[in-house]
Amino acid sequence: MKVPLADLRSQYLAIKPEIDSAIQSILDSSQFILGKAVSAFEEGFAAAHHAKHCIGVGSGTDSLHAALWATDIKEGDAVITTPFTFIATVEAISLTGARPLLVDIDPATYTMNPSALERLLSSKKSDNLSGVKIRAIVPVHLYGQAAQMDAIGDIAKRHGLAIIEDACQSHLATYGGKFVGNFGVAACFSFYPGKNLGAYGEAGAVITDYDALATKIRQLRDHGQVEKYKHAFWGHNYRMDGIQGAVLGVKLKYLEKWTTRRRQIAGFYKKMLEGIGDIILPFESPKARHVYHLFVIRTKKRSGLQKFLAEKEIGTALHYPIPLHFQEAYKHLGYRPGDFPVSESAAEECISLPLYPEMTDDQAEYVAASVKSFFRK
Ligand SMILES: *Cc1c(COP(=O)(O)O)cnc(C)c1O
Repeated sequence: MKVPLADLRSQYLAIKPEIDSAIQSILDSSQFILGKAVSAFEEGFAAAHHAKHCIGVGSGTDSLHAALWATDIKEGDAVITTPFTFIATVEAISLTGARPLLVDIDPATYTMNPSALERLLSSKKSDNLSGVKIRAIVPVHLYGQAAQMDAIGDIAKRHGLAIIEDACQSHLATYGGKFVGNFGVAACFSFYPGKNLGAYGEAGAVITDYDALATKIRQLRDHGQVEKYKHAFWGHNYRMDGIQGAVLGVKLKYLEKWTTRRRQIAGFYKKMLEGIGDIILPFESPKARHVYHLFVIRTKKRSGLQKFLAEKEIGTALHYPIPLHFQEAYKHLGYRPGDFPVSESAAEECISLPLYPEMTDDQAEYVAASVKSFFRK
């Protein structure tokens, strides 16, 4: 049996007539950029997260960059995030001219460790941060689970820092009963095809409750244009394609159902893999509704397991094998091995198993049985 890490085609086939006609309507109207389909999706996506505004943009990276820029993060500022995330989180900070400051993750949830955050903020005078002003925190809701937003929110408030959530992996995730996107000034989403809500190309969005911030992001999205021909400041081109808006509008209706199915498969995996070998299963905080963008386990036998599963035609991936402070691109930050030990060991041991809503029970069973047989060998 073949089980890919994710299967975009099976999802398309399940909703093909609706998708095809939504795309056809864009071709017919020729509203290729923004337009009615994008606005309708923006409204629906904001409502789904109980947010006031949604601004559709070109990618998750765009959404992070636009949100930070609109919050006036600039050269001379510093923004805190973790080294255990996709590089785009840190890149967006760099693109504003600000300096990324990293803090380690919590070993149970893989999200920002609030104690490490507190330590960084209280020790900042001893670091070589002279001339740099810490302005914001970007917690990453990694793998589909929200970061510890109660503790992080308290710390941000005490230190006067803005929170911009990286929710690129956590559409419809909640924390303390509130949807992600409601814990800071703005939250950023990616609709990369493999994300829980995926476009058929590049797309992303920012959600926010703040009117002025929403207006600013809309203007940045369109070259700082405040009315036709008038540019109050320079911006960028972050506009969402009409076809992506149409596709996302169709798929948004299914997102809750797909999320439920993701959680069901995750529950099945957990039941099957409990106590097997040295596996550490994903921890679900009682405060969080984990939406399982990825089902990530830890084992010291990762490379053997990956090879074994590949022989059984089971797709796996590593999220992420190199923490950002070890990347050539971020050498200049001056961090050293041992600075973020939790991120470093997670990077060595994490492996993602197949998980997508269209996976059959038989496929999930085959994956679980194969993992078990590797550890019983
Ligand atoms: C996917 C992702 C991004 C970037 O989104 P793109 O749409 O690929 O630009 C940023 N942060 C995280 C955590 C992501 O998973």
